[in-house]
Amino acid sequence: MKILVLNAGSSSQKSCLYDIEGSLPTQAPAPVWEAELDWITPQSEARITSKTKDSVQQEATLSFSSRKESILYLLSLLYSGPTKVISSLDEISAVGHRVVHGGQDYQSSAIIDAEVKAAINRLSALAPDHNPANLEGIELMEQLLCDVPQVAVFDTAFHSQMPQVAATYPGPYDWLEQGIRRYGFHGISHQYCANKSAQILNRSLEELRLITCHLGNGCSLAAVKNGQSIDTTMGFTPLDGLMMGTRSGSVDPSILIYLMRKGYSADKLDNMLNEQSGLEGISGISQDMREISKAVNQNDNRAKLARDLYIHRLKACFGAMLMSLGGVDAIAFTAGIGEHSSWVRAAACEGMAFLGLTLDVEKNENSPVDRDIATIASAVRVLVIKAREDWAIAQSCWHLIQKRTRSIAE
Ligand code: ADP
Repeated sequence: MKILVLNAGSSSQKSCLYDIEGSLPTQAPAPVWEAELDWITPQSEARITSKTKDSVQQEATLSFSSRKESILYLLSLLYSGPTKVISSLDEISAVGHRVVHGGQDYQSSAIIDAEVKAAINRLSALAPDHNPANLEGIELMEQLLCDVPQVAVFDTAFHSQMPQVAATYPGPYDWLEQGIRRYGFHGISHQYCANKSAQILNRSLEELRLITCHLGNGCSLAAVKNGQSIDTTMGFTPLDGLMMGTRSGSVDPSILIYLMRKGYSADKLDNMLNEQSGLEGISGISQDMREISKAVNQNDNRAKLARDLYIHRLKACFGAMLMSLGGVDAIAFTAGIGEHSSWVRAAACEGMAFLGLTLDVEKNENSPVDRDIATIASAVRVLVIKAREDWAIAQSCWHLIQKRTRSIAE
């Protein structure tokens, strides 16, 4: 079964193709084909890279007049040019989409129909940078592939069973009735990471207390107990919680009231908090942790403040997750910074030495993929896990399609 995965972000579009023969493999396979489009100038100029499982690669910078046109080009790399792996799009059996916001309506993945599309559209108000892009991708695939089943895999679903105390903001009660509550995001990644942690540790997920750390451009932690997310750092939107690449994370809401009274508009505040804050806002250099590290080595004071603030907020949020769990068996780091930045892992873990957590310095330095990097004597395991959201989406898609096929046959 050939499953196409579409993962639309605010400034990028990733896509990959999996070919699953027979049953699902227990280890995540490499995709047959993968491609990524990053906007250099929003909805105008973009850099596109594609590659096949056999390492054939292609790269181009092109101009597009719309997102639709850009996705069509991206998909053409599946059946034409050096990274061609299929003869036509007709070979695709199912399409899986990462959908950022599923609200309270969707607590698990769903086969896309008119009702699911209406919900994604309705929830665009809560995820304006993501849900409209997801919907556009879904509608385009409907036009291209007609009746091929499409599946929405929601980034909020894994957190949808959080206890009410973790999901509620202590504002007026009617916020809850209006849907103003903590949803949590990066759920596909946190859930994959929790499952993978159990696999690496050779233990049952049901007996583990885990803190999963998705540290990429966006950053969040989740407290996972018995395989369920019981707390997380992101909230009503992906702006809450940790300091991120360009997002502030949690700030005192009175700062916004203060700035509004000085005449700042909602759009201006939105832009400030989402695009001009975090590592980039504080350092004035970059949202990329590699650039921050370089500048720290050159004694740049703002870069040092950005680094220290990032770690300070990370430790504070670790504390919150730890207390929600009442202890921790393993900490799993994933995504760009989580997988590659040994000093971030070391600095964050240093704050947990009192738990008997000790990192194996050499293993940590090597950033091994899907490995335990704690010492044998450590009371808490520490794992580095390669983010595989796309494989998690393909798996979800496979399960739902199998279920649908069985129910049609019965
Ligand atoms: P996204 O959240 O957009 O999926 P990624 O998970 O790819 O992003 O993470 C991107 C971030 O990861 C970059 O901005 C950069 O800060 C960080 N990163 C990537 N590689 C490294 C590395 N080798 N060392 C430190 N940080 C890295």
